[in-house]
Amino acid sequence: MRILITGGAGFIGSALVRRLIEHTNHEVLVFDKLTYAGVLSSLEPVASSNRYTFVQADICDAEAVSAALREFRPQVVAHLAAESHVDRSIDGPAAFIHTNLVGTFVMLNQVLEYWRTLRDDAKAAFRFHHISTDEVFGTLGEEGLFTETTPYDPRSPYSASKAGSDHLVRAWGHTYGLPVLVTNCSNNYGPYHFPEKLIPLIIIRALNGEPLPIYGDGTNVRDWLYVDDHARALQTVFEKGQPGETYNVGGDSERTNIEVVKAICGILDQLRPRADGLGYAEQITFVTDRPGHDQRYAIDASKIAADLGWTPSVSFEQGIAQTVRWYLENQSWWQDILNARYATQRLGVARA
Ligand code: NAD
Repeated sequence: MRILITGGAGFIGSALVRRLIEHTNHEVLVFDKLTYAGVLSSLEPVASSNRYTFVQADICDAEAVSAALREFRPQVVAHLAAESHVDRSIDGPAAFIHTNLVGTFVMLNQVLEYWRTLRDDAKAAFRFHHISTDEVFGTLGEEGLFTETTPYDPRSPYSASKAGSDHLVRAWGHTYGLPVLVTNCSNNYGPYHFPEKLIPLIIIRALNGEPLPIYGDGTNVRDWLYVDDHARALQTVFEKGQPGETYNVGGDSERTNIEVVKAICGILDQLRPRADGLGYAEQITFVTDRPGHDQRYAIDASKIAADLGWTPSVSFEQGIAQTVRWYLENQSWWQDILNARYATQRLGVARA
């Protein structure tokens, strides 16, 4: 198949591209603006493949989207391009509204025009797959899980913009008959994760001998999924999913933030012990909480398991050990980002 992937130079998009080039015969066109979060070196492992092409362009640019569709003639559009960091959405929500809402609208409109030009069999086989987050569902107490029918209750500018984009996608499915798929996934982690996110931030700051900031009391719970398992879930959904359906994707690995940070410290203590003989957990420090910090997210991923046969293959303990090892072995990947784009400073402290 020919698959157009927006946001393919990002964390999850690049994992999907590497998977498709390395493990399938699909052809891939990456359509990515290369914002601060787009990292071309994450695609280096597949850059020499003749089944891989890259276009630098903005999903808000209707003409660029239309040209890519006309020239590449995809059978699947996997839409991952987004502003993705909650803390940045607190400091500067405008980019989130623009890219996540307006950009998704532009994608839908252009894809619909292109789809209408296809022959009936190609029309029926086409898929627009929108990649979204569990954050659209709001926050949970100590009990319960998000299912595909949980009402939306987004609370950050990021999650509100993703919720709106999910509604747009479903509206284009219902109103125009576009064959759409939506997946809502829990927190991802793994190699090539931009250093602003909790897990790479902690690994890098630990290695640099800096304080390890924990928001609030560290009891916020997230369900962690290894990124390669997410990439496999995405491939499963656009190959086998039922148009019009939503699938929740999760790792069945709930951990508090403090548990995550302590796990990283423990692995670093083994692999790269501190010169002074103390543990990395000595560097943990509690800082003012994120405004509006949701307490708990947890996913019920039984539908994708029952209907499409996907389950996570990597446990949190395996995945976090692999991830720490990757950051130790690939320092030049993240050092380049630290030098040029983001130096691990705190983001997302709202003004009173
Ligand atoms: P990321 O921030 O690492 O990557 C986003 C990519 O989109 C970058 O390559 C960036 O250059 C590109 N992009 C941004 N604005 C663009 C625009 N206007 N036009 C074209 N390209 C643009 O994000 P990620 O963590 O890989 O997340 C990918 C998708 O998955 C997002 O839609 C996100 O909401 C969703 N998601 C993420 C997680 C997670 O844990 N990271 C969990 C669930 C869902």
